[in-house]
Amino acid sequence: MPRLRRIVTRSIAELTALARFGRAPRAGLRVLMYHSVGSVATGDALGIYGIAPDLFVQHMTALAAHADVAPVALVADAASPQRTRVAVTFDDGYRDNLYRAAPVLQRLRIPFTVFVCAGFMRDPAGNFLTPAEVRELAALPGVTIGSHGATHAPLTGLDDNALRNELESSKAELEDAAGCAVNAISYPHGAVDRRVRDAAAAAGYTIGTCSRFDINDPTRDPLLLCRTDIHAGDTVRVFKQKLCGDWDWYQWRNRDPAQ
Ligand SMILES: [Zn+2]
Repeated sequence: MPRLRRIVTRSIAELTALARFGRAPRAGLRVLMYHSVGSVATGDALGIYGIAPDLFVQHMTALAAHADVAPVALVADAASPQRTRVAVTFDDGYRDNLYRAAPVLQRLRIPFTVFVCAGFMRDPAGNFLTPAEVRELAALPGVTIGSHGATHAPLTGLDDNALRNELESSKAELEDAAGCAVNAISYPHGAVDRRVRDAAAAAGYTIGTCSRFDINDPTRDPLLLCRTDIHAGDTVRVFKQKLCGDWDWYQWRNRDPAQ
C-alpha cells in the first residue's frame, strides 16, 4: 500500500478510536480473515496476506485476553455474555494453518475455520494442505473446515452449470477429505452476488463469508457475512482497533452484496 494512503487510513482509524474512547467495541459477530501464517501467500503482490508467526501469536493473545469480546466458532455461533463475538477464519488452505496457526489457537482455546480451495489440495509445490492434513486439522477441537471453491475462480463470472459444479464438487471433495459435513463457504476473491448466494444455499451451504469489511448484526444474511481483513503489517494496536470496529469505515472499498 502506498505510504501516503497508509498514513491517511491509519489516521482515520486513530481518530475513530479516539471518538470511541471509553465505549465498548461494536456489538455483533465479527469474522476475522487471515490467509497464510509464516509463508509467502500466492499472488500476494502487496505482501499483506502472509503474517509473521510472532505477530500472529500477539494478535491471538490479544484476542484471548480482551475482556469485551468472546472468540466463537463461525458455524456454531453460540450465545456469549459478551456483546462482541469474534470468529477467526483463514482463506485458501495454506499448510501453515495446520503447523503454525493451529498450535497457537489450540493453546489459547480459540475456535477457527479454514476455508480450503479443493483444487489447491493437489498443489505440486506443497504450499497447501493435502487431504490427509485437512483431515488432521478437522479432527482438532474447535476446528471447522469450509470450502473456498474448487478452482479459486471468481464465482460471479461463471455460468449456472460451472457455478453449481464449483459449489458441489468442492463441498463433496472437502467432506471426503475432512470426514465430516462442510456447510460453510468463503467466496473466492470475495466475488458474490444474489445468484451466487442462492446457488450456495441450493448446494447445501448454510454459512457464507464475503470480503465486505464490517461486523454482522443478528439480521445479517448468514450466507453473506461480512469480514474484517487482517493484514500482515497490522500491529497489535491496529488489530485491537479492528476488533473494536475502528476500521469499519473501510467498507467503502467493497460493494455490499446484500444490497
Ligand atoms: Zn482465496
